[in-house]
Amino acid sequence: MSNSSWRGYLYAEVVSVQRLTPHMVRVVFGGPDMANYVPSGAPDECMAVFFPREGEERPPAMTADADGVWWYHGIADQPESRNYSVRRFDRDAGRLVIDFVAHEGGLAATWALEARPGQVLLLAGARSWYDKPEAAEWQLLVADMTGLPSLGRIVEELPAGARAHAIVEVLEPSDVQQFETRGDVTYDWRVGTGNGDSESVLAEAVRGYPLPDGDGYVWFAGEASVTRAVRKYFRKELDYSQERFEIIGYWRAQAERWLEKYKKHESSALAAYNEVIDSGGSEFEADEQYDELLEGVGL
Ligand SMILES: Cc1cc2nc3c(=O)[nH]c(=O)nc-3n(C[C@H](O)[C@H](O)[C@H](O)COP(=O)(O)OP(=O)(O)OC[C@H]3O[C@@H](n4cnc5c(N)ncnc54)[C@H](O)[C@@H]3O)c2cc1C
Repeated sequence: MSNSSWRGYLYAEVVSVQRLTPHMVRVVFGGPDMANYVPSGAPDECMAVFFPREGEERPPAMTADADGVWWYHGIADQPESRNYSVRRFDRDAGRLVIDFVAHEGGLAATWALEARPGQVLLLAGARSWYDKPEAAEWQLLVADMTGLPSLGRIVEELPAGARAHAIVEVLEPSDVQQFETRGDVTYDWRVGTGNGDSESVLAEAVRGYPLPDGDGYVWFAGEASVTRAVRKYFRKELDYSQERFEIIGYWRAQAERWLEKYKKHESSALAAYNEVIDSGGSEFEADEQYDELLEGVGL
C-alpha cells in the first residue's frame, strides 16, 4: 500500500510487555505513527530499532538529506540500534509486535526485559529477504531463537496446502511455540542447544534432512557461523542457484571478540568485495568473495 506520509521511520510506543516463553519477550507497540507505517508485505521484514540516548525519553527524529533517505545524517552521537523482525503488524488496531530473545547482556535484550508501557523507540530502515520462487514446491525453514519470530510469521502466512518443513533450535522445552497455519507444515524442534549457550546442531540437522524431490526453497536465519556453514552446503555442495535460498546471519556469538579481530581484516575484506563489484560481478558474488576472505583468516 502506498502512503505519502510514510517517512521511512516511526516512533513506536510500548503498549504491553509479555514473557511469551522463558527466553522470549513480546513487546506490543502502538502510537499515532503506526497509521503511517507501510510494510513491504514480506514475512521476514526487519527494522533497525533505535534506543533513546542517555537522559532522553525517546530517540531523536531522523532527517532526510539531499538524497531523500530518512536517517541520522550527520549526527555524531547517533542512538544505538539493533535489528529486529516485525513479528506482526495490524494496521486497523495500530499495533506492531516484536519478539526479543532474552539473552544475557546486550542493550536490546536488557531493554526488552525491563520494558514498560509508555516507553518509546524509533524504528527505521525496513528490509526483507524471504522471496520464494513461484515454482518452488516445498520449503525448508530453519531458525534459532532470533529467527523464530520471522519463521513464525512465514508459517502463519503460508497459503493453503503449501508444503514446509521447519527446523528450529530453542533453549528449553517451553520455548517451543505453536503457529496457526493453512500450510502443510512439519516440525523438528531441537531443544537445549545453540543460541549462545552451547554448540548449535542446526547445520547437522539441515544436512540430515532428506530434501524432497522437485524444486524447493530454503530460508534460514540464525547465528552467523552456522548460517555460513549451511550457505556453503547449499551453494557449493548442492549447487543451489541464488534464488533458491536465503540464508541470513542474524547475530554473532561472542561478537566483541569477533569484532576485535575483524578490524584487522576489514579493509582487505572490503577490497575483495569492491573488486567483484568493479569487475561487473553481482552483490551476491561480492558477498561470497567477502565471506571467503573472512573465513580464510578464521573469522
Ligand atoms: C534481519 C534481522 C532480524 C532479526 N530479528 C530478531 C528478532 O526478531 N528477535 C531477536 O531477538 N533478534 C533478532 N535479530 C538478532 C538481534 O539483532 C541480535 O541478537 C542483536 O545482537 C541483539 O542485540 P543486543 O543489544 O541484545 O546484544 P548485543 O549488544 O548486540 O550483543 C551483546 C552480547 O550478546 C551476544 N548476543 C547477541 N545476540 C544474542 C542472542 N540472541 N543470544 C545469545 N547471545 C547473543 C553477542 O555475541 C554479544 O556478546 C535479528 C537480526 C537481524 C540481522
